[in-house]
Amino acid sequence: MIGITSYGAYIPRLRLDRMAIFQNMGWFAPAIVMVAQGERSMCNWDEDAITMAVAASRDCLVGQDRSALDGLYLASTTLPFADRQNAGIAATALNLPNSILASDFTASQKAGTNALLAALESIKSGERRNILVTAADKRETKPGYFYEMWFGDGAASFLVGSEDVIAEYKGSYSVSYDFVPHYRGSEKQYDYMWEERWTRDEGYAKIIPEAVSGLLDKLEITIADVDRLVYPCFFKAEHKNIARKLEADPEKVMGNMHEECGETGVAHPLLMLARALEEARPGDRIVVAGFGQGCSALYFVVTDAIEKLAPRTGVSGSLANKETTDNYAKWLKFRELIDPEMGIRAEAPTQTAMTTLWRKRDMILGLVGGRCRECRTPQFPKMDICVNPDCGAHHSQDDYEFADVPARVKTFTGDLLAVSVDPPHKYGMIQFEGGGRMMADFTDCAFDDLKVGLPMQMAFRKRVADKDRGFVNYFWKAVPVPGAAEEMDRIRYDGRVAVITGAGAGLGRAYALELAARGALVVVNDLGGARGGSGDGSAAPADEVVREIEALGGRAVANYDNVASAEGGKSIIKCALDTFGRVDILVNNAGILRDKSFLKMEPENWQAVMDVHLGGAYNVTRPAFAAMKENGFGRVVMTTSAAGLYGNFGQTNYSAAKMALVGLMNTLKLEGRKYNIKVNTIAPLAASRLPEDIMPPDIFKKAKPEYVVPMVAYLCSDECTESGAIFNAGMGYFNRAAILTGTGAQIGDADNPPTVEDIEANWSAIDAIGGTKELADVNAAFMDLISPAPEESAEKEETPAAAGPDIQAIFDNLSGTFKAEAAAGVDVVFQFTISGKGGGEWNCVIKDQTCTIAKGAHAKPVCTLKMAAVDFGDMMTGNLPAMQAYTSGKLIIEGDVMKSQLIEKLFSI
Ligand code: NAD
Repeated sequence: MIGITSYGAYIPRLRLDRMAIFQNMGWFAPAIVMVAQGERSMCNWDEDAITMAVAASRDCLVGQDRSALDGLYLASTTLPFADRQNAGIAATALNLPNSILASDFTASQKAGTNALLAALESIKSGERRNILVTAADKRETKPGYFYEMWFGDGAASFLVGSEDVIAEYKGSYSVSYDFVPHYRGSEKQYDYMWEERWTRDEGYAKIIPEAVSGLLDKLEITIADVDRLVYPCFFKAEHKNIARKLEADPEKVMGNMHEECGETGVAHPLLMLARALEEARPGDRIVVAGFGQGCSALYFVVTDAIEKLAPRTGVSGSLANKETTDNYAKWLKFRELIDPEMGIRAEAPTQTAMTTLWRKRDMILGLVGGRCRECRTPQFPKMDICVNPDCGAHHSQDDYEFADVPARVKTFTGDLLAVSVDPPHKYGMIQFEGGGRMMADFTDCAFDDLKVGLPMQMAFRKRVADKDRGFVNYFWKAVPVPGAAEEMDRIRYDGRVAVITGAGAGLGRAYALELAARGALVVVNDLGGARGGSGDGSAAPADEVVREIEALGGRAVANYDNVASAEGGKSIIKCALDTFGRVDILVNNAGILRDKSFLKMEPENWQAVMDVHLGGAYNVTRPAFAAMKENGFGRVVMTTSAAGLYGNFGQTNYSAAKMALVGLMNTLKLEGRKYNIKVNTIAPLAASRLPEDIMPPDIFKKAKPEYVVPMVAYLCSDECTESGAIFNAGMGYFNRAAILTGTGAQIGDADNPPTVEDIEANWSAIDAIGGTKELADVNAAFMDLISPAPEESAEKEETPAAAGPDIQAIFDNLSGTFKAEAAAGVDVVFQFTISGKGGGEWNCVIKDQTCTIAKGAHAKPVCTLKMAAVDFGDMMTGNLPAMQAYTSGKLIIEGDVMKSQLIEKLFSI
């Protein structure tokens, strides 16, 4: 079987809005509005037919063995060289074997289909095995006419051969006429066009149907044996008429792509064929016809192999990657239709030494560098001495191709002084994955798109054109990977290892899918038990989620251990460490329900729920915490429930276990603080099997786990700085739940303990919940208990301090208020970290009854006080009692909390 074995496409990223052409030229040529729909593709200033052919061919060669190629046919009517093998430039850029036959096909719009036909016939003859056929065109038009609107730039490539054929070649039919609707004299830049009506009626309308009918007759088939009919014709109505003439179902005719990119000349029938293959299913029968001085029509049948083809950008990917401009002047400049002043720097000599180009052709045209045989370090350019300082081997470099190696921006600049067609001139250092760096020009991007770390890919482009001698110099440039900048702004978990318990279903599964989609390596733990935790369990749920993650390109491992035992917990974490080498994220999510009203709650139902929820979190978190402590990073999410936070009839066991997890978090957040381990708790609400008989049916339907996922994913991220908080999440609604403490009442004194009657008498003050506050830990609760309740005050007037205190002045004054007599025997270092306007670091050293206050961080503070500048100003001017600042969370104290109480004793504030 012979036929097409692969395909690729390239449409330049730039698109010119056709209305921009009309808006600028409509005063002169009002009729062009008739075709001013959509946009036309437009080469960047550094693109031409060869660069586009190389781009489409790289797309076509994804997953293919380049060394097996023995032919390259390049078709175009806009080749940059009249006498230099243009296909040879492309072959060198693609690092194809020197033993190939490289050939240019040109001088007619059907050169693309003819090149494809010639390649297929050559394979059929047995003379060659694999030929790459590529067609590209960048046609110039005078401004303000239909052709400027109709035309676009683009390329398509096909690999033809006899193995792994995706579209079997069944036959062809050609007609040749010296029909001249337009021509381009060999010295001319633009086509000379004859009247459109004649081109349409005598050309397209007659010649394409003749060739297609001839093909059908030759193969003894009818139009009913064609599932996709592909032919170019930029006259929109005539494109439809041709189908009508052939009695083809309009649904089966491939659109002419006018709105999306315009007609890409020699490449167009092949670009449309690539699109047809992209959409094809095995068994589809395709006719493609190329038009120009006659017509060639070819018939293909798509095979099963198409489903195994490696993913590629193709036509759809190229169309999606676009930047539309309405800057008509830019179009004119890029096409050299205007000649603005480029400055004297642009006059620098540009002559290319053919000797150097020949010697360095692999490096310049093929981006071939070296890799050291001794230490495997890649480098560009290839040198005699290995760049690795630990190696330094001599003459140890093998050829190493960089063109397809992913890279990232290391440094970049936008240079307004350097000569550039599209200023600023953008360039910088790129770092290749696996080693190797290069100073590269950046193209197909705006300066604002660039940032350090941005993923880049290499593109073969024009570097300089030597207009005096008619020579074009090509080299490789770096282009941002489409969509990478947006991806960089997304919260990612690359390299982070996440353990999710109970991830075989419901919420856990949704967490696992999201974290894996954003780069995390996931341990999908699930016992696969029944809703009530009974039964032996099953590997199926965890395995299925792992399969789902892998199908989406993520990495995950299944684990079937029971969280309810200490061994199970250890084994889950061991699985993470053995498979991925670390643990960064743990979501304690596994859960069961055994609901009964309290008196019917037998010990086994009580215990089973305690074991899975509370015991499970303890069993898995403990070994995970040890691994996280080692790494200095950890994110732990506990799963509580509204049933625990607020109560729910029939769920005493579940409520108690769920609320116990809040207690576990409260203390773990303190123990994890030093190691950057943040511990938070989620109270989800989602439709899953657990609450299906508790939730009202209409709410159950609306509550998808995906509405909880973002909150849990955020709590698992590097970006999350929160620790010790509880969040309700469900149906897109998120809020924080907290344990709050009322202002209460102070009854009795040191000599008179309060009586039961005092409690009764003060009940309303004790029971009042107004003016509540959140207490950061048990110290805060203790302080709150011993500090007097603040008096209800009238609305506080705005003090000058609140408008922005002078923090430096406060510290300058502080030493003046130091009470040396109160500092007898005191040896302490206070560190103040003041945030906000005027803030910074100050330290205060009290030793031998002296006080030294200095700006900056002390190496060994005993007690660190953290406050916002406004609150600090309030506190130091007596407007905010220190205790109140502390209990309200405005003052955060780290280290020896009790020492902070000395401040009020040591200074008269
Ligand atoms: P689910 O039943 O769909 O998923 C729970 C998963 O945990 C199941 O796949 C189960 O096999 C697994 N599991 C049970 N016991 C296990 C064990 N001992 N070891 C390992 N895996 C075990 O339930 P869901 O609704 O997705 O619930 C997830 C968590 O969220 C639970 O902790 C639940 O209590 C909590 N929660 C859910 C809701 C809700 O509205 N869905 C509300 C509040 C709390």
